[in-house]
Amino acid sequence: MSTTSPSARPMSGTDLARDILDGTAARAAEIARRTGVRPCLATVLVGEDPASVTYVRMKRNRCAAAGIDSRHVPLPAEIDTAALVTRIAELSADPEVHGILLQHPVPRHVDERAAFEAIAPHKDVDGVTTHSFGAMAFDRPGFVSCTPGGILRLLDAYEVPLRGRRAVVLGRSPILGRPVGMLLLARDATVTYCHSRTADLPALVADADIVVAAVGRPEFVRGDWLRPGAVVVDAGYHPGGVGDVHAATAATVADLLTPVPGGVGPMTIAVLLEQTVRAAAEQLGV
Ligand code: NAP
Repeated sequence: MSTTSPSARPMSGTDLARDILDGTAARAAEIARRTGVRPCLATVLVGEDPASVTYVRMKRNRCAAAGIDSRHVPLPAEIDTAALVTRIAELSADPEVHGILLQHPVPRHVDERAAFEAIAPHKDVDGVTTHSFGAMAFDRPGFVSCTPGGILRLLDAYEVPLRGRRAVVLGRSPILGRPVGMLLLARDATVTYCHSRTADLPALVADADIVVAAVGRPEFVRGDWLRPGAVVVDAGYHPGGVGDVHAATAATVADLLTPVPGGVGPMTIAVLLEQTVRAAAEQLGV
C-alpha cells in the first residue's frame, strides 16, 4: 500500500503582497500627481534591537519602492514613557506625516499601550490603538492591525470559505491573535481562542477547519493535531526561518498552509503600506 502523503497547497503571501504593493504604488503616484505631496510614514524605533532594526529597514525600503516617503525617528533605548508619548503626539499633529508606525516591542520600562494611544486614530496605519481595535471589532471603517488584515486578505485570495466554519486562533495578543479572531468572527466563522491557559489545546485544534497559529513558539502546532483538509495560517517567524507550525508534518494533513517565510510576513508590510496611502488620501482629500 502506498504511504505517499498528500502535500498542502502553499498560500503565497509573496505573490499577493506584490499585487497589493503594485496597486499601492500606483495610488501613491496618483496622490503625488494630484496634490504635489507624497504619502509619508513616520517610523519610530526605540533602541537598537537587531530584529526591530531589520523590520524597520525592510518597511522603509518597501516604502521607497512604492513611492512613499518615510521619516525615520530613532529614539534612545532609555527614553521614558512620557517623552515617547510626547514625540508620538508631535508626529500625530504634524501635517507632513500621514501614518505612524511605532515598531514594537518597545523596551520593558516603557508603557507600550500609552505610546500606542498617542497615535492619532487617522494616522494609525498599523492598527494598534484601542480606537482602531474597537472600529475593527464593530465592523466600522478604520485601520486594521496589519498582520490580521493580511491574513484575511490571504484567506480571501485563496477563496477559503469562512461563514459557519470553525476557526481556532492560537494566541490572544492585542496586535495579532485577538484582532484576527474578531475579523474571522465578523465573517461569520465560529471562533475559539486558545492561549497559554487553554486546557487540551490539541483537541480543540483537531476540530478546526481553519487554524491560525500566533503563539510565538517555534514549530508548536504539530501535523497530528490537525483535522485532514484544514486550512493552516502560520503567523510565526523565528530564527532559522521556521514558524509556529511544524511545517513538514502539517503539510501532510492540511489542504492549504502558509509558507514561512513568504506567507504572512510579506502581507503585513503590504497592508501597512496600503493603509498609509489610504491615510494620506483621506488627509489630503483625494
Ligand atoms: P505574543 O504577544 O508573545 O503572544 C503569544 C500568544 O500565544 C499569547 O496570547 C500566549 O498566551 C499564547 N501562548 C504562548 N504559549 C502558549 C502555549 N504553550 N499554548 C497556547 N498559547 C500560548 O506574540 P505575538 O506578538 O502575537 O506574535 C505571535 C507570533 O507571530 C510570533 O511568532 C511572532 O514572531 C509572529 N509575528 C509575526 C508577524 C508578521 O508580520 N509575520 C507580526 C507579528 C508577530 P497568553 O496570552 O496566555 O500569554
